[in-house]
Amino acid sequence: MITIRNLSKHYGDLVVLKDVNAVIQKGEVISIIGPSGTGKSTFLRCLNLLEAPTGGTILIDGIPLLDKKTDVPKIRQKMGMVFQSFNLYAHLSILDNLTIGPVKLLGKKKSEMNTKALELLKLVGLAEKANSFPDELSGGQKQRVAIARCLAMEPEIMLFDEPTSALDPTMVSEVLSVIRRLVREGMTMIIVTHEMEFARNISSRVFYMDEGVIYEEGPPEQIFEKPLREKTKAFIHRIRCCQQHISNINYDLYALQAEMELFCDKHMIPKKVSGYVLHIEEEALLLQSDFSDIDMNLSYSEKDGSLELICESTGAPMNPLTQKLADTHIGLKLIRGRCKSVDYKYDHGRNILAMVLKGE
Ligand code: ADP
Ligand code: MG
Repeated sequence: MITIRNLSKHYGDLVVLKDVNAVIQKGEVISIIGPSGTGKSTFLRCLNLLEAPTGGTILIDGIPLLDKKTDVPKIRQKMGMVFQSFNLYAHLSILDNLTIGPVKLLGKKKSEMNTKALELLKLVGLAEKANSFPDELSGGQKQRVAIARCLAMEPEIMLFDEPTSALDPTMVSEVLSVIRRLVREGMTMIIVTHEMEFARNISSRVFYMDEGVIYEEGPPEQIFEKPLREKTKAFIHRIRCCQQHISNINYDLYALQAEMELFCDKHMIPKKVSGYVLHIEEEALLLQSDFSDIDMNLSYSEKDGSLELICESTGAPMNPLTQKLADTHIGLKLIRGRCKSVDYKYDHGRNILAMVLKGE
């Protein structure tokens, strides 16, 4: 139904979309997730030509959207868009908000549309608000009206740009329920959202956007449980990192430890656990023989509270875990005692020791 090839969008020197490619089938529900500023909104806006793409092709039912000969308004009618801010007409009643588009743009009869609009208001649970004005409605109700108004135009595809992020937390679920209902009815949808549980439950596929591309895509189980790529993992697990570098043997251990401790405090890691982190960092450094290029990286997952310390050093392979002394080496024993797992690998000339800490 939608084919996107090499889509790009630049604002001056700023490359927001570099090379976006996707094929979306009829009836699919695609969730788009990713850090803010990665072009998710821009992507949706390019899809229905609220923004002019810099390059690439978009085919809707085989028709090239960016071709000069294409009847753009007609194709755009196939796509309804729901925004974060509801954009209702404040001076029109709820009913008129729903009927104005179809009457003015599709040439529908007002009387016919009134009946249809009432049905749609019923669908979103707001039939009794037909004669109210937008100001009299809560945020959640307004967004449900915005969805009904979008449906009044009989779109084949619906685009949602963070439909719940301007709402009070108490109103999020009423809007998500309405969207869920549209999913059940088989509407083709593309939804930019930060509601991860929701995205996981309703999507046929999830796109993770970063670096101007669809950085990783897959079924929700993959993206949310076993993301394959580094940035997806960091986003899903809400990973925060403290990175340190050592370039000679006269490194300042106390400064490094003070920095790690500050990082731990900032993320409210219990004192006892941050004590272990410092201890393990020190022991891991004592296991090293070459101090010319060491990276120490502590990553903390806000999602599950897990902590991993990775010590990477350049030099000949030196696996501390298989050394003769391994079982009796006191430093290694201490590390093992504090960790759930300790793994070593040698990769691209780097000794990599990965230590996953136990909790409290
Ligand atoms: P997201 O929705 O993922 O948070 P956006 O698509 O809104 O990201 O924005 C991506 C980047 O493009 C941001 O850096 C933003 O500042 C920039 N941007 C968006 N719209 C414009 C515009 N009209 N002019 C210039 N820069 C823009
Ligand atoms: Mg956005």
